[in-house]
Amino acid sequence: MNISDFQRGSLPVCLSLLSAICISTAHAADAQKKEPWQLAQETEVWEPVPAVIQAPANAAPSDAIVLFDGKNLNQWQAVDGGAAQWKVANGALTVVPKKGDIKTKESFCDVQLHIEWMTPTQITGEDGKPLESQARNNSGVFFQERYEIQMLDSYNNKTYPNGQAGSVYKQSIPLVNASRAPGEWQTYDIIFTAPKFDSTQKLTAPGYVTVLHNGVLVQNHFEIQGATEWIGKPVYKAHGCAPLRLQDHGNPMSFRNIWVRKL
Ligand code: MG
Repeated sequence: MNISDFQRGSLPVCLSLLSAICISTAHAADAQKKEPWQLAQETEVWEPVPAVIQAPANAAPSDAIVLFDGKNLNQWQAVDGGAAQWKVANGALTVVPKKGDIKTKESFCDVQLHIEWMTPTQITGEDGKPLESQARNNSGVFFQERYEIQMLDSYNNKTYPNGQAGSVYKQSIPLVNASRAPGEWQTYDIIFTAPKFDSTQKLTAPGYVTVLHNGVLVQNHFEIQGATEWIGKPVYKAHGCAPLRLQDHGNPMSFRNIWVRKL
C-alpha cells in the first residue's frame, strides 16, 4: 500500500470513526450542559411516600399502641396470665410489692417504646435505714420478657454502674447518668431490635438497643449479649416475639404514658 492507497481507502474509515467520536463527545458535552436542578433530580427518590401520622406534643403518636393512658390495666396481665394487680390512681400505675411482675397481653418484636417512670420520695426502709444501691427503688422494663433496661433511683445512689438507671442490666453501663430526683417523672425512649433465630434455634442476628433517658442518649445501638441475668453470664435462647414486662422489685415505682410502636 502506498500513501495514495492509504489516503483513498482509509479516509472514509477515519471520517466514520471521527463522527462516532464526535457524536459521543457531543453526548458527553450535553451531559455536562445539564442544569444543576436537572443533576439534582437524578438523586431524588419519590417512592415510597411515608405514611402521614399525627405526633402531638406530649401525647402518643397516632400509629402507636397505647399500653397505659392513666385509666386502666386493660393491656396488661400478671405473669401467670391472671389479672394484673398493680394500682391505678391519679393517672399513674404503681407497683404493688409482692404482686409480681406484669406483662403486656400482646407480644412484640422490634419496637419503639416510650415510658415515663417515677421513683418514690421514700428512700428509707421500714427500719429507717437508707435504701441503698439496688434496693433504692428498683424496677425495670424487659423487652420480650428477657432483656431488661434498668429503672432505679440513681440520683445520688451509688451502685455498680452496669446496674444503674439506663443500664442494660449487667451488660452495658449508661453513657451518662441523666437521673432526676426522686418524685420527678422521668422518660425512657427506647428503640429495640429483637434478636433473630433460625429454624434450628441458632442465633442469626443479636438484639440491639438504643436508650434515651430524659431525652439524653445513654445506650447507643448496644449489641445485647443475651438475656439479662442477675447471676451468671448472659446467653441467648431462641424465642419469638414476646410481651413487654415491668418488674416488681419490691418498691412502689410509678409509671405513666406508656406507648409502643411496632417497627
Ligand atoms: Mg430492675
